[in-house]
Amino acid sequence: MSRTPVQEVYLDHAATTTPRPEAIAAMEAAITSVHANASGFHTSARRAKNALEEARERAAELIGTERRHDVVFTSGGTESDNLAVMGAAFASRRRTIIVSAIEHKAVLEAARSLARFGYAVQVAPVDEHGVLIVDRLAELVDGDTAVVSVMAANNEVGTFQPVGHVVETVRSIDDSIPVHTDAVQFFVGRDLDVTDLGVDLASLSAHKFGGPTGVGLLYVAAGTRIESMMVGGSQEAGRRAGTSNVVGVLGMVAAMEETARARARFDALAGAERDAFEAALMAGDPTSTVTGADVDRLLHFSHVRVPAVLAETLLIRLDQGGVFAAAGSSCQSGAVEPSHVLTAMGLDPDAARECVRFTFGWDVEPGTGTRSAQIVLDTIKELR
Ligand code: PLP
Repeated sequence: MSRTPVQEVYLDHAATTTPRPEAIAAMEAAITSVHANASGFHTSARRAKNALEEARERAAELIGTERRHDVVFTSGGTESDNLAVMGAAFASRRRTIIVSAIEHKAVLEAARSLARFGYAVQVAPVDEHGVLIVDRLAELVDGDTAVVSVMAANNEVGTFQPVGHVVETVRSIDDSIPVHTDAVQFFVGRDLDVTDLGVDLASLSAHKFGGPTGVGLLYVAAGTRIESMMVGGSQEAGRRAGTSNVVGVLGMVAAMEETARARARFDALAGAERDAFEAALMAGDPTSTVTGADVDRLLHFSHVRVPAVLAETLLIRLDQGGVFAAAGSSCQSGAVEPSHVLTAMGLDPDAARECVRFTFGWDVEPGTGTRSAQIVLDTIKELR
């Protein structure tokens, strides 16, 4: 007997977004017209190089800098974060890296991996809402600080971080210390203006805002020194060796443009669905709680704790019911360890194992919020 197909609801846009049609169109056009190696000398290579440099200029504008040289194209968020943290540390004579406790592993592990080269890592705590305590970070900054890294918005709970305040604080102590922000989740929800924000380094990843996977960028402010982590080529002005991913970059920049253009609409739509989802969920199960509900957070993020239901069990049952969500960082899924973000916020490990993240996308259908909340409620009832 054939089973009735379930209607699928993709609520895992923090893991990766649905590609935007504009990005797909840009890549389809590029794969035939500008596929040549942008480092070559012939006309076809120059065409690819020109397309790459035009895209760099547009990307620079879209993140608030006038200098296209400030944009280094990479293979995504992980590489951008690694390059920022490790690249800045290696370019410095100082030996301490300061990170917030809720950074993505691409920052945390990059910092920790430097221990074998004699670097130390200092971790600045967050409060119970998942927001960095800037005063506590300030206490860690000293003459040995090589780089400070604080994300713009957290990838598990969606809370915005006070990056502008971090920049001011670090500058007031020592204005030679570079400040990096991982803006991988932030960009989909808010305009990023690196000049206004005052950061020296900022990471973006295309697949988090409707672009392709495997491409991203690192903003490197003029005068900020980083050592390349990739060697064997002089691409990206010596800051990232490797043949340029022109097609991916064109897809990313098309997605950046569309994301920036349609942001107000995205906020209204995804925000309304997220709010409807949380309202329906809380009404149906008053024991559930929303993480970060009292602070500024990404409008398309809903991170909820469902007491007495293991996240893994809930996710498996939701998957069978056609609702795709995640427990914490997608990169940690499958791991039994409770999320470092939640434990940093003071949740005990058992409570942390009862948390699930639902993230809405630009293509969300109206009504998805209430419909999926009902599926979650039915599933919770079955499991309890
Ligand atoms: N930083 C944050 C905040 C993320 O959420 C992610 C992806 O989950 C990354 C970095 C890594 O990005 P990528 O998947 O492009 O390597």
